[in-house]
Order: sequence, then structure tokens, then C-alpha cells
Amino acid sequence: MPIVVKLDKCTGCETCLESCPFDAIVMKDEKAYINEYCNSCMNCLSVCPEGAIIETETEGQSAEQKQKIDEYKDVFIFAEQREGKLASVSYELLGAGRRLADELNAGLSAVLIGATTEEADELIKWGADRVFYCGGPALDKFNDDSYAFVLSNIINEHKPAIVLAGATPIGRSFIPRVAARVRTGLTADCTSLEIDKKTGNLLQVRPAFGGNIMATILCPDYRPQMATVRPRVMKRGEYKPDRTGEIIDVKSDNIVSRTEVVEFVKEVSEISVNLHEADVIVAGGRGIGGEKGVKMLEELAESLNGVIGASRAVIDEGWIPYRHQVGQTGKTVNPRVYIACGISGAVQHLVGMQSSDIIIAINKNPEAPIFNVASLGIVGDIFEIVPMLTKKVREAKGI
Ligand code: FAD
Repeated sequence: MPIVVKLDKCTGCETCLESCPFDAIVMKDEKAYINEYCNSCMNCLSVCPEGAIIETETEGQSAEQKQKIDEYKDVFIFAEQREGKLASVSYELLGAGRRLADELNAGLSAVLIGATTEEADELIKWGADRVFYCGGPALDKFNDDSYAFVLSNIINEHKPAIVLAGATPIGRSFIPRVAARVRTGLTADCTSLEIDKKTGNLLQVRPAFGGNIMATILCPDYRPQMATVRPRVMKRGEYKPDRTGEIIDVKSDNIVSRTEVVEFVKEVSEISVNLHEADVIVAGGRGIGGEKGVKMLEELAESLNGVIGASRAVIDEGWIPYRHQVGQTGKTVNPRVYIACGISGAVQHLVGMQSSDIIIAINKNPEAPIFNVASLGIVGDIFEIVPMLTKKVREAKGI
């Protein structure tokens, strides 16, 4: 916020000079002035005996600025797709976007780049009032530059109040470019979004300081308010097969891109790692001890048609590749069953898995925090319990 001196109140007492760690207050004609070195630290505000130093915001937004903000109305979501298939986060964004739009008494639009109009229809059935559809060969493959070009043009033309996208590799890669192009802020990795009842501003909640606090972030002076949202955190909206809406074709013949995508190379892995879609995840922590423990978890996961997850400690040890990591700096999952083996339950791990339907924790330490979120807890050695479980599952399945 810019800090200014109200010259009619300033007596030239110079009390403020020492309060500024940036030497940003200068005296001229016996009045104090704030120069360009001001970092808005606000140290000077409380020292002025006349109350002559103020934040300009305390005077209220200018009418012109307020009017500009009022021009921005609807809620937009970026509908992510890969190879023509909508990503599950797109449905979750529609759920969150619909709720916010209803609260604001505004419309909900989805922006679909690439794919086909069939997907556009789906977006309407899942809650969108309008879909901005931009297809064409230049957009078949994801490209940060051209996707940012299209989305920022749509935002500049239609002026949404809120723009949401998934905090996926695609969203994380191009949404910051969009925010920079349209000159607004961006809150990454939100876990909750609400409307401030008094001001109508978007309250963007996300973990901060290593997950130890939840920060609520606002973007009160610029529009749109932009946020990326972690997959599997928001609930999907309601599917209505008879819902109708408008599909608006956006021209793609004028796209400017400085890069060209030559080829996509898919990572091939022996074990399936689609943690987001998995019904059962067998996750290992430092307690698995190494290769022998990984093998043991793979056998249990295989018997349950599940996949392997891991804590960051395991990734750091190099026992399991990063793509399996669950938690704040890994993936957020919510399978039907999450089996945590030898995982202590640090807050950074819990934020990635605590919304799982059933959590089974196996740990030899009865005080391990993982038991606080577990539906079922087993205190014991994983090297005894996991093979027993695998044996029982195989027997029950006759395999
Ligand atoms: P430990 O905390 O060492 O726990 C091992 C557990 O295994 C213990 O509870 C022990 O009792 C049990 N055990 C040992 N042997 C056996 C046995 N034979 N049988 C049964 N139990 C046994 N962590 C994540 O997981 N995901 C993240 O995304 C993540 N992001 C982070 C981001 C930041 C900014 C920071 C600072 C940290 C992050 N961490 C993350 C790290 C996190 O703080 C913990 O260090 C980590 O989760 C601990 O992993 P762990 O539970 O496997 O290991």
C-alpha cells in the first residue's frame, strides 16, 4: 500500500526520519516526503505525533479504482484436458466455481482449450453456464505460451472477477504467465475458497510456513482474483444431464506463441502410479527400511489392486521415485483406503492424505501422530503385519 504524508498535518518535527529503515523519508521545505525507496513497512505510521503519515488505502479506494473492480463479474474456471479427456480437477473446479458464483449471484464459465465440443457439453452438465471453447491444431498439445495467450485474451475481453485453475503440472506451468499478462495476483495451491460476506472478495486459503499455519490470502485491489486449487481437495458439483448452456467459439487463428511443442514423451513406469485415481494406496514411510520393505508393500498393493505411495523421507532416501510422494510437496490423494506403513504422520504428510475415506495405520510407536487421523490403528512391526495382511487378502481372493 503506498504510504503518504498529509502535508497540511505535517509540522516538520522530523520524528519520523529515524523510524524508517530504508531512508525513504526526506525533508523538504520543513515537510516530510516519502520517496521511491519506501517498502511500505509502516514503521513510520505510529511514530508521527500528528498522525500525518497514512496508508492511502485508509482513505478508501478511489472511485475510479472501485469502478474498474466492479466491471469484473463472473467466475471462470480453466477446464484442463489431456488428449481430449477432461482432467478430474476440472469437475472439482466446476463444483467450487458453481458454489462461489451462486454466492456472488454471478455466472460460471469454463474455458476449454484444445479437445472437442463434446467435452464442452460435459462441462455444462457439470455446472457451467457458458463454455469458451478454443480448438484447432495449434492447441492440440499443451503449450504454456499459446495457452497463456488464449486465456489472457479471454480474461481481458470478458472480465471475470475470479479465475480458478488446477494446481496440476499444466496449471502450475501456465497460470502464472496468465496472471502476469493480465496484471493481477495469483494464490497457488489453495485448499479452500470462500467469499467474504462483507466485501465480496475471494478468501483464498492455503497452507504456509511448511504447513504449520493456514494463510488466508486476498487480492482486494486487482481483478481477476486468481487461484490454483489442489486436485482432490474440492468436491465435484452436481451432474445434471438436462442442464443447458452456451458454447462460445473463440478464434484460434491469431495465436502468438514463441515456442513449439515437438513431441510428448510419456514416462513409462513398471508400477502404475496414478495416485489421484487409485481406490487403494499402500504407502510406506521411513519404517520400511529400504528395498526389502518396498517389495513387501508392492505385494500388498498388488493383492488389493492398489498402488504404492510414500512419505518424503522415503523419496529422500531414494527407495521410491518422487512420483509416488504423498503430501504437501507431493500429491494430494483421497482413495477409499489408505494404508500407512511405518509413517509417523508429520503434518506435511497428513495434508496430502487425511481426506481418504478409510485410513489404516501400522506403526510400532503407539504415540505416532498418524494414529490421530487413522480409522484403524495397528501398533506393531510392519515386517510382521504387512505379510500377514497380504496372505489373508490373497487367501480371501483365492490367488
Ligand atoms: P519418520 O518421521 O522418520 O517416521 C518413521 C515412522 O516409522 C516412525 O513413526 C516409526 O515409529 C515407524 N517405524 C519404524 N520402523 C517401523 C517398523 N518396523 N514397523 C512399524 N513402524 C515402524 N513429508 C511427506 O511425507 N510428504 C511431503 O509432501 C512433505 N513435504 C514437506 C515439505 C516441507 C516444506 C517440509 C519441511 C517437510 C516435508 N515433509 C513431507 C517431511 C515431513 O516433515 C516428515 O519429515 C516426513 O513425512 C517423515 O516421513 P516418515 O513418516 O516416513 O518418517
